[in-house]
Amino acid sequence: MTSDLKPSALVLFSGGQDSAVCLAWALQRYERVETVGFDYGQRHAVELKARLTVRERLPEVLPEAQARLGEDHSVDIRGFGAVADSALTRERAIEMDARGLPSTFVPGRNLVFLTYAAALADRRGIEVLIGGMCETDFSGYPDCRRDTLDAMQQALRLGMARDFVIETPLMRLTKAETWALTQKIGGEALVELVEEDTHTCYLGDRGERHTWGYGCGSCPACELRAKGHAEWAGAA
Ligand code: ZN
Repeated sequence: MTSDLKPSALVLFSGGQDSAVCLAWALQRYERVETVGFDYGQRHAVELKARLTVRERLPEVLPEAQARLGEDHSVDIRGFGAVADSALTRERAIEMDARGLPSTFVPGRNLVFLTYAAALADRRGIEVLIGGMCETDFSGYPDCRRDTLDAMQQALRLGMARDFVIETPLMRLTKAETWALTQKIGGEALVELVEEDTHTCYLGDRGERHTWGYGCGSCPACELRAKGHAEWAGAA
């Protein structure tokens, strides 16, 4: 059985729902899974704390995690945050710009994340990068599209002379399907962990526990998470 396992992967892990599911997904497929998180001056330390809690609890609910969950890396890219400044990183209303992109869009964020992740992976001897980017029902962020990531993968391969692969297991899934995948990977225990300990809310609100987890309930991230959870629970 172990021969089916691939050697190693680096998961871009923010502490949010999507990247947590990607981490669980990776733990079932790779012998060693390391994580990387980026501090780009987000409003909330709450996301960074969610990362630690999820990593700590994963071995309780996912047996594979005990032997396979490897090192965590934290990268300070506040310099980028200062340049890319947006509603995510500063107190500002969430609104649409002339391109039809919400002010929560941080220009080039995933490209920067992947460049840092690839540099780190190169040093760690890892060739697979895994991210929770999804083009199905998100806000149309152009750096979440598979086209963009294919181009990025090619740029990283050429620029670092290593056969990097960018895996995006959630790319074609709706939020409801992501909840279903969570259950498929780790049953009710993993669903509960994702509900309880991952953080998605743009406002960093953890005041109220909804069926789908904590959050303000009205920002775009909360709305997506709540809607997906309701669709999934309704269909289950
Ligand atoms: Zn919210």
